[in-house]
Amino acid sequence: MQQFCVFGNPIAHSKSPLLHNATFASLGFEARYGRHLLSESSALAHTFFALKLQGVNITVPFKEAAFAQSDEVRGIAKEIGAVNTWVLERDRIIGYNTDAQGFFMCVQGWDMRTALIIGAGGSAKALAFILRQNGITTHLLNRSSGRLQEFARNGFTCFTSDEFDSTHAYDIVINTTPAGLSDESLPLESTRLCEILSRARYGFDLIYGKRTPFLQLAQNLGLQTSDGAQMLINQAALSSELFSFGAIGFKDALKCMNALGL
Ligand code: NDP
Repeated sequence: MQQFCVFGNPIAHSKSPLLHNATFASLGFEARYGRHLLSESSALAHTFFALKLQGVNITVPFKEAAFAQSDEVRGIAKEIGAVNTWVLERDRIIGYNTDAQGFFMCVQGWDMRTALIIGAGGSAKALAFILRQNGITTHLLNRSSGRLQEFARNGFTCFTSDEFDSTHAYDIVINTTPAGLSDESLPLESTRLCEILSRARYGFDLIYGKRTPFLQLAQNLGLQTSDGAQMLINQAALSSELFSFGAIGFKDALKCMNALGL
């Protein structure tokens, strides 16, 4: 039986085993999907081969290390510099990024030309590149400057919270920080965030499983909002198609995963 897994730290909370095992069972694909807590990014490829896996999802904080340890990287992951999916193909590790497309599928029908991403971590990278690839002018705002430098080198307009002039207007504002995940904090000081959101049409938070203060504020200001649950499902369904070399179709996987009602 083929074996799949998710690598991360922490990993106990991951919904990936639930999503993939339900899909495998429902579509009659002979495979099992587990989770593995990793402490060292240097152990990624070694662990992948030691566990005899056919494929793996990689989550926080190992997506950049997984990019570096891939034998080949395909698609938009080459630009992003981070991969969340590995597939074993003729004994070589092939890396993909399904977060980017998974996110974009959520907002595809939305009428937007400009985006502000709050946060500058791994997920912000995936979003910035896919938004730009789709013709959406994308700016980044982060509390500190360090991680913004790579975005600036890639041609994105970047601001630290201190530099940001909140008179800028954006169609969509996206929270990619963990602010609000395990507390009730906002990713940015409340008055300035209100100013930005009051000129926007859409608010998106990558966090799922709770209505964050960011999403609540956006909703109170009349914006159309979405949390990260559908993005999680979309990226998993895309990974499932890659894991099975197309034996599991994206639409069938999506149907199974959506039926779980996350
Ligand atoms: P990273 O750790 O790579 O980056 C986090 C970013 O958020 C950094 O820029 C950091 O700033 C900033 N930040 C951290 N804490 C705060 C805070 N309290 N206030 C303001 N800014 C803060 O994380 P990821 O990009 O990998 O993930 C971010 C979030 O997205 C997580 O909550 C994760 O669960 C979620 N996620 C959801 C997915 C989905 O499918 N729905 C997929 C991937 C991620 P600094 O640079 O100053 O440290």
